[in-house]
Order: sequence, then C-alpha cells, then structure tokens
Amino acid sequence: MQGWRCALAEIPDPVFAQGMLGAGVGIDPTGDTVHAPCDGIIRALQPAGHAVTIAAAEGAEVLIHVGVDTVALDGRGFKPLVAAGDRVRRGDPLIRFDLDLLVRGAPSVITPVLLLDSDRYAVSPLGEADGPIAVGDPIFALVPQHAAPEEAPVAPDGEVVARELQLPLAHGIHARPAARIRETAVRFSAEISLSKGERSANARSPVALLTLGARLGDVIRIEAHGADAQAAVDAIADLIASGMGEAADPQQASATPPEPIAAAPAPASTISSDGKLAGVTASPGLAIGHARTLHLAEIEIDPVGVGAEEEQARLDQALRTLGRRLDAEAVTASGARRSILAAHRAMLEDEGLRDAAAAAIATGASAGQAWRTAIRPQAEALRATGDAHLAERADDMRDLERRVLSLLMGVEDAPIAFPPDTILLAEDLLPSQLMALDPANVLGFCVEKGGPTSHVAILAASMGLPALVAMGPALHEIAEGSMLILDADAASLQIGPDARTLAKAHALVAERHARRLDAQANAAAPCHMAGGERIEVFANLGSRADAEVAVANGAEGCGLLRTEFLFLERETAPSLAEQTAEYQAIADALGGRSLIVRLLDVGGDKPAPYLPIPAEENPALGLRGIRVGFAHPQLLEDQIRAILRVQPIGQCRIMVPMIASIDELRRVREVVDRVRAELGVGEPVSVGVMIETPAAAVTADLLAREADFLSVGTNDLTQYALAMDRGNPAVAGAIDGLHPAVLRMIAETCRGAARHDRWTGVCGGLASDLRAVPILVGLGVTELSATAALVPEIKALVATLSMDACRAHAAAALQCGSAAEVRILAREFRA
Ligand code: PEP
Ligand code: MG
Repeated sequence: MQGWRCALAEIPDPVFAQGMLGAGVGIDPTGDTVHAPCDGIIRALQPAGHAVTIAAAEGAEVLIHVGVDTVALDGRGFKPLVAAGDRVRRGDPLIRFDLDLLVRGAPSVITPVLLLDSDRYAVSPLGEADGPIAVGDPIFALVPQHAAPEEAPVAPDGEVVARELQLPLAHGIHARPAARIRETAVRFSAEISLSKGERSANARSPVALLTLGARLGDVIRIEAHGADAQAAVDAIADLIASGMGEAADPQQASATPPEPIAAAPAPASTISSDGKLAGVTASPGLAIGHARTLHLAEIEIDPVGVGAEEEQARLDQALRTLGRRLDAEAVTASGARRSILAAHRAMLEDEGLRDAAAAAIATGASAGQAWRTAIRPQAEALRATGDAHLAERADDMRDLERRVLSLLMGVEDAPIAFPPDTILLAEDLLPSQLMALDPANVLGFCVEKGGPTSHVAILAASMGLPALVAMGPALHEIAEGSMLILDADAASLQIGPDARTLAKAHALVAERHARRLDAQANAAAPCHMAGGERIEVFANLGSRADAEVAVANGAEGCGLLRTEFLFLERETAPSLAEQTAEYQAIADALGGRSLIVRLLDVGGDKPAPYLPIPAEENPALGLRGIRVGFAHPQLLEDQIRAILRVQPIGQCRIMVPMIASIDELRRVREVVDRVRAELGVGEPVSVGVMIETPAAAVTADLLAREADFLSVGTNDLTQYALAMDRGNPAVAGAIDGLHPAVLRMIAETCRGAARHDRWTGVCGGLASDLRAVPILVGLGVTELSATAALVPEIKALVATLSMDACRAHAAAALQCGSAAEVRILAREFRA
C-alpha cells in the first residue's frame, strides 16, 4: 500500500497499538489500493470489505485492516477485489478504497499490517521504521520460531507417533465425524493433531477439524506426542478406518472440486426490467408482503481487558449461561431445531475455541474481544474451505459469537419485532435470529448471502416459512415497504407487482393456505376420528406463554408440562411459592383444561445448575428423572405440594418421568397421599407414568394396575430401545421413533393399559409427526400431546382417519424391518 510507514503504537486503537492481535507495522495510506504482501490464499475478507487476511504458503497469516473502526462504514468506500478462498500472488490488488470517504468517516486511516500467528513466526522489520513507502517495498520478514513441521515438537516424555491414511469417509470430515474424532481424542492425554497438506488441526477441536476441508480419498496424517501417543493414534486411525457409518472407497473419490461456496453473492444478481430478482430456494412456499429490512449493528465491545483472571471468569460465566440456554431451548425443541441447538452446544464446548480465547485473554484482551478473536478466524476458515456445506456452518459460529457477546455486554438482542405482512430482507440471518422471529408477522425472508442447506434454511422449512438465499447485493436496492411476491418455489422475488399479478398471487396463496386455515378454524372443536372415536389432542408446554399459544391453537389440554424448563436457568431451586404461582398461572391460562404436570426431570441431557449431579460415566443411565426426586426427597415433596395447591383441585394431574418399575410409582403415590392429607385434599389425584424405558413398556400391564394413565415419551423410549444417545450426533441419522422396535413397545404399552381400562397417550416427538399419527392411533393411543403449533393440523388429520385403516396400517408397520421401511409405508398411507 502506498503511504507513510509508522509504528503500530501510533494507531489510535489499543487492540492494534498494544499488539494484541499481533506484531507488525502501520501504514498511513496515500494510495487507494491494498496489494497482496506475499503469495497465499485469502483466508478471510470481512463482509464490510475493510480487512483481509491472507495465509502465506508457509502457513503464517497476515491481517491488513484498513483504518480504525472502518467496520462501521458497513462497506461504504470499499471495493473488495478478491474473495475468501482466492489464491493470490504478491502485488495483486486486494481491496480498493475511497480514501476521502475514509478520512471523513473513520477515526483513523492508519492501516495495521499484522502477523496473526505469532506462535510459529516472529516479525523481523525491514526498511525504515518511519517514512514514505511504495507498493512492493518490503516491510517485514517472517522468521519461523520453531523447527520445521516435519520435526514435530517432542513432549518431555518423548514419544512422537504418526500415521497416514486415506480418508474412507463418503462426505469427508464434516460435523459428525469431527465430533466423533473429538470424542475419541479426549480419552487420551497425548497432544493429537490431524493434518491434510499444510493445514493442521487439534483433534479435540471439531471446528478446527472442519477447516481441514478433508474429503474422501484425501491423505490425512494423524500425529500425537505424549505418554499414550501410540494408543491415541491407533484409536483415531481405527475410528476413521471404520468409516463411522459413512464408509466409501477412497479410490472412488471424484476429481471434481467441492461445490462452490453458495454464500458467495451471485454476480448476476440484478433486478430484471419486469422487477424480478432471482435467488436460490432455501424453503419452498409463496408469500405476499412488504419489504422490511433487518439491520443488526455489530455489538460494540471494549477490547481491552481489566485483568486476565476477571476476564476469563466473565467469559466462563457467559459460556456457561449460553450452554444452559441452549440446553433449555433444546428441551422444548424437536426435529431440526433440536439438532441445530445440539450442534451449537457442541461448538460451544470446542476446546480449540476456548483455548484461543484463553490465549487472547492472557495477552490482555477483554473477554468479548477474546471470544471474537477466537471465533472469527475459524468461521472464515470454514468459508475458505471452498465447501458449500462447511461454509454454511460459519453462520452457526457467527451466531455463537453474537450470543456470547450479547451476554457479556448485557445487550441482549431485543425480540425482533416486525409489523404484520413482513417479508424480511437481510444481508444474512442467524439461526437464533430466525428462531426469535414472530412467524405470525414475518411471512418469509430473502437473504443476500446464505446457502440452501444452512441451518437457517432447515429451520425455515420446519417453520413453513418460504425463503430465498444467495440473492446478492441487489437486495439492498429494494425500497423499504415495497410490495413483494416471494415465490420460493420458483426461486424468484417480484418487486412492486402490477395489480393483475398481485391478484393472481393472492388467489394462489389463498388456495394454498386454505387447508391450514381450515384446520385452524376447526381447531377448537373436540377431536374425533372419521368414525367418531375420540382422540384427545393436547400440547406440550414449557412456559406460561406456551399455554396461551396452545389454547389459541385448539389444544384440548396439556399432556406434558416440562417443569424443569420453568426453572432451568436458575442458580437456586425454586421455592414452593414460586412453583405454585407458575403452575397456577399455567392452569389459569389453560382455562380449566386438563394440565398434566410432569415431576422434575433433570439429569442426563437436562442439567439444572441448582441440582448439581456428580459427573457420571453414562448420564443417560444414571441419576435422572424420578431417581433425582428420590435422591432429593424434599424437592420431590415440595413440587408435589405446589401442584396440589393449584385450584381447582383435579385440573392438575401428576406424571412421573423415567419410571422403570412399579415400586417407583408406589413411592411417589405415598408422597402424594401424605401431602394430600396434610393439605386436606379429599379428592383423589390422578397420577400417571411416563413410558420411557423398555422396562416400563414391557411391564405396562403391571404399571397400569396402579397408574391412572400411561404416556409414552418416545424421545427417551427410542433412545433406550435402540441404544442410541438422543444427543449424540454420530447416531442422529438413525435414531427414529418409527423403528418397529419402538412401535412394538408402544403396542405393548397400549395392550397393558387397556387390560386395566387405562388410557395411553404419547407426549414424545412422535406425537408431533404427522406421518406417525395414523400408526399411533392404530396401535391404540388415544391422547396425543404435540407441539402447540401443530395441534390444528393433527386434529384435522385425525378427523379424516378411519380406525380400521389405522389398525391395518399399524399392523403392517409392526412387520417392517426398519424405521426407513415404516417411513415409506407412512408416506404411502391413505386413510
Ligand atoms: C420423551 O422422552 O419423549 C419426553 C417427552 O420427555 P423429554 O423429551 O422431556 O425427555
Ligand atoms: Mg423423556
């Protein structure tokens, strides 16, 4: 860059001036172009175009940040000439800028040129420290700090072990294999890395593993040093060689390059003469509304820390809080939403990110600055792999960045409110932002960036929101409030349609929504099958607000109140009064409808900070569900007391989670009876059991003798029947409640219950699966407790079903060999 060379210390920003990001020089520009200082690959180009990171062939990374606080210009005055992933030669132009505009708009235009990776290289200044400089003048040399990579550092205890193998994974190292490699790596004390070519990653950091961009057939080197290095290398090599359920022949690896990065704006992004802008369909559907733009300012942080200990404690606290929130959100989520939350949870635990943040804190950065510095290069590295799917994971990382910074800075994003009939336009949308939108007002969205397989796209589909992505910068040209027709089926956005086009679109939308509206309109009626058989359709609740939504959607009651969710984010157990007030409020919101309150179900994948459960080898098989209640009898008794205080008596029923044998039900019943006597409650109180363990399912007849009802928790029952951890990404593709083994257990439950005139319900995720509903009904389930939003459609579906057809369908499903076969059957089923 042409300009005046100066010391970093002259830059009016402590992050640069104090060398927090790395050593280097400053340049006060007189020219208008940043040129590549060395050959390399563009690792990151900031969206606002003001900064670029280049990875030199030798592995060192250099950041060039034009001016101070220029991110606030939001791209104005910058014209990037390259994109992440581009290979560049020394001297190639990278960014052009409008110097006048920058001088007027930024606190300083002095541009730091920094070495980011100061562990392996040091900066050795070349030329005058202060004075004019021209493009091509040398400014510094990078001097390796350690021995060359072949001579890997040897741990004090000596052993360095390495093995190479060709990757036999059909989809390369993507999120799931990365998580499994980490799982294996953490069992060893050795330092373990995986490398592909020059790129190397800590085996304990799934995020870093993704950035390897390793594909089928690539040669991977596993290297470890430390006491158990040999065992570690062998274990990881064996794991990879096993194929992890995705085995493919490495020789079949195609020579075709990975899919191009979908996030890259389409260069052809222009609004046509008839007012159309094309995009890529992320979620199908048709919507008509007004353009409203989502602007989200970057969260401002104070980059300088007040002390390493304090900053580390703040970061730890924020990470813990976010972890708990994600857990809490996952408890009531299902399907795509749940697995995305699980992916975010795994990223939050990433050792590589945490270590990088800790290192930044140790050099004086604030907690926020450290988190940002840790996460951004990784997100950019994912984009730079050139693989569209990995690039889309970068959005998840940005989401985590924002959520942690919000917690640190106490600037939680307000709920994103938009007026009715909004079609949302945004540069990009993060998963948590989408989850926070009110679907009643936002009818669909279009984003400039993003990809069709991103988490945001999956979420949009699960919410039924039409969405287009990768629409390019022309999206900014759409005036706020413009009338839009978003036809995601045709991958097109019509801006300012004429009256005829608009009328036609309205007719189509009306037709498409007719069924849903119908379902909604009839949602309040009691649910009966075509032949008149009564099926109760209830909703699962986790909060008071949920109860209101449930009633509006026609829920006939609550079949599962997840009480742990009401009190998850607390450091202390809720008092009796607090519990009573919450339960009463929910009962009131349900307006007299039945409320099945599940006793506290913590442990396993549902931690509660106020009830620390010692680390367990197998938490899913340990202290969880009602076992926690027995371990903390006062807590159990207080909860039962709070439930029995709710008026009117009888509206609340009690449900016991994770029952494995009749004794447990008896013990709970004893407490209920004792508290009833103490409170003078004369009426009997209904106490039911959840069928979540195979033990409970196969002894349902014994349980039904004493339980007032049985409700199948298909999430846990599936986990335990198939021996597949519901939170483990490695088995996420195979864990399906429609597996014939699970269906047979539900059938057994219904039979056992019927023998004693008890009803069987389903409150697990299967009740919210429209394909599963006819089978469940055919098996004898008479109560379905589902996600509130689905209640109208479930009721409408049940009304079309004949019992005979459902029974025959269920019988056929029980004879299938796999969940996949059942799914095919379910797709073809016609009532
Ligand atoms: C279940 O296991 O199916 C259930 C409803 O309980 P949870 O998902 O809360 O464990
Ligand atoms: Mg459960």
